[in-house]
Amino acid sequence: MSENILLQEWTGPFQGVPAFDKMNLKDLKPALEKGMELKLKEIDAIALTKEAPTFENTIVPLEKSGEVLDRVLVYYRIFSSNVSSPEYREVQAEMVPKLSEFDSKIQQNEALFKRIKTVYDNSLITPLENDQQRVVQLIYEGFAMNGAELDEIKKKRYAAINKELSSLYTNFANNVLADEENYVVYLTKDELGGLSDSFIKSMAKIASDKGEEGKYAVPNTRSYMDPFLTYSTERTKREQVWKNYYSRGDNGDEFDNNKNVVKILQLRKERVELLGFDNFGDWRLQNRMAKTPENAMNLLNAVWPSAIARVAEEVADMQAVANAEGANITIEPWDYRFYAEKVRKQKYDLDSDEVKQYLQLNKLTEALFFVAAEVFNYDFKPVAEGSVPVFNEDVKVWEVTNKTTGEHIGLWYLDPFARKGKRSGAWATTYRDYSTFNGKKNVLASNNSNFVKPAPGEALLVSWDDATTFLHEFGHALHFFASNVKYPTLNNGVRDYTEFQSQILERWLSTDKVINQFLVHYKTGEAIPAELVKKIKNAATFNQGFVTTEYLASAIMDMKFHMADPTKLDVDAFEKETLAALNMPKELVMRHRTPHFGHVFSSEGYATAYYGYMWADVLTADAAEAFTEAPEGFYDKELAEKMVRYLFAPRNAMDPAEAYRLFRGRDAEIDALMRDRGFPVSK
Ligand SMILES: [Zn+2]
Repeated sequence: MSENILLQEWTGPFQGVPAFDKMNLKDLKPALEKGMELKLKEIDAIALTKEAPTFENTIVPLEKSGEVLDRVLVYYRIFSSNVSSPEYREVQAEMVPKLSEFDSKIQQNEALFKRIKTVYDNSLITPLENDQQRVVQLIYEGFAMNGAELDEIKKKRYAAINKELSSLYTNFANNVLADEENYVVYLTKDELGGLSDSFIKSMAKIASDKGEEGKYAVPNTRSYMDPFLTYSTERTKREQVWKNYYSRGDNGDEFDNNKNVVKILQLRKERVELLGFDNFGDWRLQNRMAKTPENAMNLLNAVWPSAIARVAEEVADMQAVANAEGANITIEPWDYRFYAEKVRKQKYDLDSDEVKQYLQLNKLTEALFFVAAEVFNYDFKPVAEGSVPVFNEDVKVWEVTNKTTGEHIGLWYLDPFARKGKRSGAWATTYRDYSTFNGKKNVLASNNSNFVKPAPGEALLVSWDDATTFLHEFGHALHFFASNVKYPTLNNGVRDYTEFQSQILERWLSTDKVINQFLVHYKTGEAIPAELVKKIKNAATFNQGFVTTEYLASAIMDMKFHMADPTKLDVDAFEKETLAALNMPKELVMRHRTPHFGHVFSSEGYATAYYGYMWADVLTADAAEAFTEAPEGFYDKELAEKMVRYLFAPRNAMDPAEAYRLFRGRDAEIDALMRDRGFPVSK
């Protein structure tokens, strides 16, 4: 097709794979432009067809369109999330508004929408096959929700708003990244109290990379902030690290995000008002499981009082420890993790560092494969070295097959380590989704995390929380692999439902079979002692005040910001007042403060949707109880098969509430979630 590698058909084994080893940033812009041009041509061809609109001549080609662009976007996302650079960010800043304009051109193509609407209207009279009916409905609603029915003047404004928003999102994310890179706390040799050897080594390496030989650097990211605040005995340094982290995007300098937040909220409100909605939440939640912001808020409000009551108990426990040690302090937010860890040791006799000795990343990876085999009937085998291109030597690839039939399902890419230019946190994504309508496609899925890379030859030991997250992201990958949908649109996630599949997978970490086989000591190879496991299970509800409250505060804030009048909004003041009205305990903060709440402001991904984690957790806790009650527990074949069939394989081909009823025989209830967190259950 052209010299540009990013445009080319994927070649090689496994139905073709991305040429990650050959990608070059200079190709990105021309490839995106060409990809958009090709897709617009395809769209025009559909829109200008003379024949009367049918599923076959309208929806099918629409589902097929954009194949080249989809391939380019895979590279684009790798440049963005895994190997970002200042040069990339320049390309991104230029291309983001162009991509937004491109989307608008399709969403607002009147001739195309007319055809879609005709197919949809006809389907209400003469229904199509079930999955086709769902595809038409989702596509029609997607267009209608995004302004296809507006008049010309409103359409223009709608597109202009989206274009402006897209740039604001990029700017928001880059500001946070800048503050993560620019604020580093340096320690001297005598300020390393409480920190583990491997952590110290990695801090030393980062300091020397930054030209501060002989010092120790604490980068301003969650993977460093969290362990540092948990273990460091240097209280003033803890305060400094805490302040840097929770001030990201809020430093009153060129990277400050407060103005961006206001502008984003104003534009979002104006945009949904064009469609006749009062606020962004009403618009956003109409096709979500929760349906309305009120339903979502009811859940958050139901859990909030128990969460802050538990914080008060946790703080009292921590203050007692501090007093007994003769530390003349009042618990402040930068003390919470540190003293919580001491309480954990005292109350539950549980030492996170001791637990870590049994949590090696490579063993946990084996545990993932074991669960995938037992529950999903999948087999994971490493591909031959060098047979599948990767964008970094640390990325490893496995082939996934059906354990019984040997049928090929896809490839799993794992990019485990933190590096400069990689976004923080952990996530799962796909390079290719399953579908069958245009030839059977295999799945290329990836998991990404930010573990601190160990020195050569050393085991990578992780915390219980990080191990849980590792399973969580793998749950997303399994959800991709399990897909059995015919049409691509049916792969789309429902935001307050797609965390269920990942959260439920976390539950296998503490099953006996995983514990006994994979949680083994990194030196002796001995399985984790039963006594220690008992302690971990006893401590499962430990610190739930902190965890639940920091999450809920962010989830509630997300909703409140989008329900508020943004005309004269002062972000910091609004945040403060809202928290005060909630009686937010002063000893902790929101998990994501507003000026760096990327879930909500660096894209629309989780805007009025952060509640979705808890919404999904209601399902998770309830479904987990189904496994507890099953004859073979979490390895009950019949229940596992039911879960895969109804809750994983259909993706969005089935209404989630209906799918859940097919699995459980009833709707999910909140009680299981309250029990899980050790909160009182009302009945
Ligand atoms: Zn997730």
